[in-house]
Amino acid sequence: MSDKMQLPNDQNNTGRSMGEEELALLREVLDSGHLNCTGGTVVREFERRFAESVGTDHCRTVTSGTAACHAAIAAVDPEPGDEIITTPITDMGAIVPIIYQTAIPIFADVDPETYNVTAETIEPLINRRTKAVMVTHLFGNPCDMDPILSLCAAKGVPVIEDAAQAYGATYKGRSVGSLGEIGCFSLQQGKQMTSGEGGMVVTSDARHERRMRLFIDKAWGYGDPAPDHYFLAPNYRMTELQGAVAAAQLTKLPAMLKQRQAMASRLAEAIQGLPGVSAPKITEGSTHTYWKFPLRIDEAVIKGGSDAFSARMKEAGVWSAPRYIRKPAFECQVLKEKRTFGRSGFPFVGPHMEGRTVAYDPAQYPGTYEALRGVVVLPINEKYQPEHVDYVAAAITESAADLS
Ligand SMILES: *Cc1c(COP(=O)(O)O)cnc(C)c1O
Repeated sequence: MSDKMQLPNDQNNTGRSMGEEELALLREVLDSGHLNCTGGTVVREFERRFAESVGTDHCRTVTSGTAACHAAIAAVDPEPGDEIITTPITDMGAIVPIIYQTAIPIFADVDPETYNVTAETIEPLINRRTKAVMVTHLFGNPCDMDPILSLCAAKGVPVIEDAAQAYGATYKGRSVGSLGEIGCFSLQQGKQMTSGEGGMVVTSDARHERRMRLFIDKAWGYGDPAPDHYFLAPNYRMTELQGAVAAAQLTKLPAMLKQRQAMASRLAEAIQGLPGVSAPKITEGSTHTYWKFPLRIDEAVIKGGSDAFSARMKEAGVWSAPRYIRKPAFECQVLKEKRTFGRSGFPFVGPHMEGRTVAYDPAQYPGTYEALRGVVVLPINEKYQPEHVDYVAAAITESAADLS
């Protein structure tokens, strides 16, 4: 290819949908002079609408997806050394809250084709110290939830869904985030809808709702007969300004997701049958909402695998991320070297561990390494048009032909 096309980019307005709707709500907030959500109306109204859109009784906004995950972990209230089972292929923002709440992240392997944890990989890890299972619907493709939900119900372990990448995705007709006890979302710049930073937790459990509402606001019992700061908790309140942008984005979300899905389907179709590359696998009974388009590379066919493929794509004018996060979460310094609180190694070390030690053994994660090795993550957003998709498809076709 000769002329390189500028693809819509979600880091600026070429790939984002910010305009009059956001401005109108922002102006209302500014005119009111009340920017804080306590006593404001815009964030509260957004929470009501978001809960309704997901199909849960409650939603609470927070300052980030990380804060959302933190509130969810705090709701299940682990004892020091309790275990939270999660995935090694996710955003670190889903893992650090586990450690802040003094629990131990235990990683389940993933299915190398969907990049998601499964009931089979979770089951052997459940024990008497398991406080919750936290799944991530990676790239917008739901985990196969029925087996996970029945396993966890049988074991009496709550399920938290990290749906930060999966706005609007459904599993057997229900929205992700509403399937487990608690769902988490992020409004960070690169997600399917954004207010720059922000996040939400959703639940239909009144006890979890109360615990999270308290946790995100210093555990002060607003409205209680004898309020106090009941327990250790930060301030994760979002502002009315973020709420205004999020509210406008929520109105646009169905159309934005529809365009993502249409363009992803067009791309999947265009690359069907090419040697060594395949479109994302969609979990049966699900809809995928394509936070990204994870292209699967067969290294037996593509010379040099995902790294070579991504480099070749770049020559053809399309940027992509080979191997996504490149290494499983447990290989990052914070976990590998237990860099937590001073030099203590807490909560991985201490009398609460009852003699247990935590070492993450790479040999236990064949699916995870295979998944990362073979993925090339392509950006996609609601501003993609058929000509952009066709341009990307041509680059994929050219690269696959060249390297196979
Ligand atoms: C983005 C993301 C987070 C963290 O969200 P922030 O808003 O960046 O804190 C957590 N989990 C997943 C799966 C994410 O993609």
